[in-house]
Amino acid sequence: MKIKAYAKINITLDIPKIREDGYHELCSVFQTVSLHDELEIQISESDKNEIELTCDASNVPCDERNLCWKAAASFTEKYGIKNKKISIELKKNIPSGAGLGGGSSDCAETLKALNKLLEVNASNEELEKIGVKLGADVPFFIKGGTQLAEGIGEKLTELKLPYPETSLVILKPEAELPTVNIYKIFDNLPKESLPEASTEKFLAEISKGDINSFKLITNMLEPAAKTLCPEIEEVEKLLLEKGAVSSMMTGSGSAVFGIFTNVNKAAEALEAAKHNKKIIFGTMCRFI
Ligand code: ATP
Repeated sequence: MKIKAYAKINITLDIPKIREDGYHELCSVFQTVSLHDELEIQISESDKNEIELTCDASNVPCDERNLCWKAAASFTEKYGIKNKKISIELKKNIPSGAGLGGGSSDCAETLKALNKLLEVNASNEELEKIGVKLGADVPFFIKGGTQLAEGIGEKLTELKLPYPETSLVILKPEAELPTVNIYKIFDNLPKESLPEASTEKFLAEISKGDINSFKLITNMLEPAAKTLCPEIEEVEKLLLEKGAVSSMMTGSGSAVFGIFTNVNKAAEALEAAKHNKKIIFGTMCRFI
């Protein structure tokens, strides 16, 4: 079975509260985009349970640390699957440490594929319960589309937003930013240095279908990520100079997206990024 595992961007990212147990509460509009990894999953009979994983990216582990592997191991254990060899071929197109959720998306698609291939018929809610133990964003990717994430990211509400016609450019500077490190830096930044929460305002404006709603978006993790990766600022400026309505970092970075109304301007921005040595990844895509 061949599957596409789509990336996500966070159109807004507010952190309204840090809980006493240290967990960060989130209020964020998650959106899947057409950039995707490719997975091929096959099942064969065996005298024991086995997982075989190959991946074309040298910076992604091919063993039990990989989220596809974790998904397969958790799924077979939970549903008492016996004597199956699960072979997974993973082609990475989504850069890691980018805030694009590539690992979590691969994980969610592996769970969904095994559910079909092994004819378990588990509900999405059951798959989300397995997924949330593997990665905070996995429940989002079980659903996909546009979702408002609240709580610690586990409370999802599907949104149907009347997006105007847009093209998206995603660019990534070299740094891979581990999410935990960014949250630690965030905790020590003075709260007055953070951007204001924007989810509520954005949702009110986009409900009218106005492209200018994207000018309101903010990501509260941006100042923390910029301390480790100042190039984020430069990439945002490049996108705005090339005509983006808005540009912002996704998740905990380091990838940045630009929203364009004109596909030719988006293509020009991507071309300009190719000549910037600090940008190691670039693509044009759309909301999906
Ligand atoms: P997030 O936004 O969910 O924090 P990210 O988009 O920044 O994640 P990922 O692509 O999910 O980054 O990769 C984060 C780390 O997870 C990588 O450093 C990698 O070692 C590990 N990893 C495990 N499984 C995978 C996978 N299938 N694809 C990519 N990375 C994986």
